[in-house]
Amino acid sequence: MQRLDRSAGATTEHLLQSKEDIGRGLFIAPYEGESLCDVAVVFDDDGHIGYADERPTDRDIDGILWQRWGGTQTGPLQWSHHRPDRQRAVMERPHRCGGCAGEPDHDERGVLWLLNANEQAQATLTFPRDIRTATPAMCRQCAERALRACRVLQAGFIALRVRETELVGVRGILYSLTSPPQADRFVRFDDDAIHRVVARQLMLELRDAELDEDTLSPPGHGGRAPTAVPGPVWGWQ
Ligand SMILES: [Zn+2]
Repeated sequence: MQRLDRSAGATTEHLLQSKEDIGRGLFIAPYEGESLCDVAVVFDDDGHIGYADERPTDRDIDGILWQRWGGTQTGPLQWSHHRPDRQRAVMERPHRCGGCAGEPDHDERGVLWLLNANEQAQATLTFPRDIRTATPAMCRQCAERALRACRVLQAGFIALRVRETELVGVRGILYSLTSPPQADRFVRFDDDAIHRVVARQLMLELRDAELDEDTLSPPGHGGRAPTAVPGPVWGWQ
C-alpha cells in the first residue's frame, strides 16, 4: 500500500501530552480501567475489513485499522500489556521513550533500546544485527527503573544503540474470509494482508543495532530482589 510520511500527521500526537505517570508508571501499559472494545469486524466487497460502526479514529494515517480501546486511566497498570494507541504514539517518528513518552536516551552511538534476552540469547547473538521489535526506545531514567522493577529484565537483558530504524509493519489479528482469525500475526505494510488485519502494535526494525555494555548495569545484589509481582515484560517483540 502507498504509505504516507507517518511523522507528518501522526494521529496519536495528542497522547504524548499524558505524562502524569513519569517516574512511576509505564506510558505504553494500559490501566485496569482501560480495555479492548467489543466491535464487530466486517468485510467489504474487496475483501478488506472494517468495523460495523467504524469511526475515523479507528484508522491511522495509512488507513490501517487499529484495535479500539475505551475506559479511563484508573486502577493498577497492566504492566505486561501495550495499549495500542500509546504504543503507536511512541513508536512513530520521532521515537519516544516507552516509559514516559519523553525523549529517549541517545549518544554518539545512537538511541538506547532495552530488550530482554536470556543467557542463551546473550551468548549466541552477534552484533551489529537487525532486530524487529514492538518494544519502544527508552530514556535512561526509565531504563534504570525498568531494570529495578521488571523480573523479566532482571533475568537477562541487552542494551542496544541504534542509529537507524524503519517502521516495517504491524502485529495484530489477521482476518480471512475462508479461515478463522489468526492472532499475533506480523504483517508488512506492503503486504496486501494489511487490509485484513486489526493492528495492535506498530513494528520497527532496528538496523545494525550495536551492543551497549556501558550505560546500564544489572541491579546490584543490595537492590530490590526479583519478586513475583508482575512487571513490565520488555521483550524482543
Ligand atoms: Zn522515559
